[in-house]
Amino acid sequence: MLIDIHCHANLYLTLDEIINEAIKVGVEKILAVSISFISLERILEISSRFKAIYPALGIHPEEVQMNKDIENQLDSVLNTIRSNREQICAIGEIGLDHHFVKNHELYPLQKIIFEKMLLLAQELELPVNLHTKGAEKEVFDLLPSYTIPNINIHWYSGPEEFLKRGIERGYYFSITPAISYSPAVKKTVSMVDIDHLLLESDGPVKYSGELGTPAMIREVLNTVSKLKGTSAIEIENQIYENTKKIFPKMF
Ligand SMILES: [Zn+2]
Repeated sequence: MLIDIHCHANLYLTLDEIINEAIKVGVEKILAVSISFISLERILEISSRFKAIYPALGIHPEEVQMNKDIENQLDSVLNTIRSNREQICAIGEIGLDHHFVKNHELYPLQKIIFEKMLLLAQELELPVNLHTKGAEKEVFDLLPSYTIPNINIHWYSGPEEFLKRGIERGYYFSITPAISYSPAVKKTVSMVDIDHLLLESDGPVKYSGELGTPAMIREVLNTVSKLKGTSAIEIENQIYENTKKIFPKMF
């Protein structure tokens, strides 16, 4: 069985078809991550409607430029997450972004939100699903101040220095379909041991023009298998165990 641990499942128009397609290739569980104030309820709604969908709640670092009210909505966000603590499997997608968010004036607010999310993960004893694009140093500097059960770095493509640091600290790295063309993603796979790898679609993000879907992680597994020189079934079993360890509430 494969598990997609990072998917924006609420954004598909035909989620039932997307899930059926995934199940056909053995992707039986999908962790749906929220990004915005409005997506919190949508993630909860689809996870109650579809058996394969498991919820993760959090605020994405790009929300500061998408939603001018987010600062005033933070208490409400925290309340929603706390009141759904039983159902949710992780806090995510959260983090810092200094790549897609160009306006430096938004960085302090981004950090305030991220630190509130980390504190909440610590309080609720939940793993985190992290976005680090262009802010790898800032994210890695903050993490040791919090006691969080497990850390998943999503789609890592930053400097090798922080990749090494993350490996030393025992973080889990999730690999996207970008493995087919991205040297940075290939590098992450080559450096991280198979006992710290996970798979994700980040769908509906597009890959070479094609809509990203959970079913695609079957092909990601095959590519990881080639790069590691280990059989696909052996890697599938190991990644299953890794996922169970970091996101136990999905099982
Ligand atoms: Zn994402």
